[in-house]
Amino acid sequence: MRKKIVAGNWKMNLDKEQAQILASEVVNMAKDELPTDVTLIMCPPSIHLSSVNGLVAPANNVFVGGQNCSDKASGAFTGEISAPMLQSYGIEYVILGHSERREYFKETHQELAAKVDISLENNLKPIFCCGEVLEEREAGKQDEVVKKQLDESLFHLTAEQFANVVIAYEPVWAIGTGKVATSEQAQAMHKAIRKMIAEKYGEEVAQSTSILYGGSCKPGNAKELFACEDVDGGLIGGASLKSRDFIDIAK
Ligand code: PGA
Repeated sequence: MRKKIVAGNWKMNLDKEQAQILASEVVNMAKDELPTDVTLIMCPPSIHLSSVNGLVAPANNVFVGGQNCSDKASGAFTGEISAPMLQSYGIEYVILGHSERREYFKETHQELAAKVDISLENNLKPIFCCGEVLEEREAGKQDEVVKKQLDESLFHLTAEQFANVVIAYEPVWAIGTGKVATSEQAQAMHKAIRKMIAEKYGEEVAQSTSILYGGSCKPGNAKELFACEDVDGGLIGGASLKSRDFIDIAK
């Protein structure tokens, strides 16, 4: 009953033509090769959102997401993009709290809570990223770290609001490093996250929340990771820039 989701985070890559080629290839391959119960999401840089969304519009089960949005609705915030703007372009999802945003742009738990709120107010489904850094994992603190991220930025929501949230567990030490979490590590954390959700919102909400794994996910390791009981798909960085790899992961 949980949605199976594979989302591609293009990060700051691809020019106009490359973005259009990749998006068209993904849409075509998805139509031919993917079962209808798999939701694909492409998250291009914001300058490409409109053109990519134009390509996916007619296709079923392929959606577009932003990589971030402001915690404010509008105003004098040079360079920022707001949730109402994303909504006005028909965008369905938005990645929030990616570790690169937390690290390089110093996004705080509080700011992320505001971004979650404004996204939901504008009918965007947040793909909320959480995960520990290497030192925290080595100190055995991963559950505690993730619990705090959820507590501070998500668990103020009502159960009804929370139903629109997708969680992406991304151990920071696995992002872009080629060092993937083992399926045991991924399953253990996903199970722990589901338990945290159950404790807050009850078993039914927990069982219907999609929890994606992210961090060096590739066609070669996706099958084993996604076979884990509590892993409902992936948030893919590098491998989402190649249509063949992205589709193979989803398959
Ligand atoms: P990666 O990135 O697949 O390149 O490790 C994942 C992410 O940052 O979402």
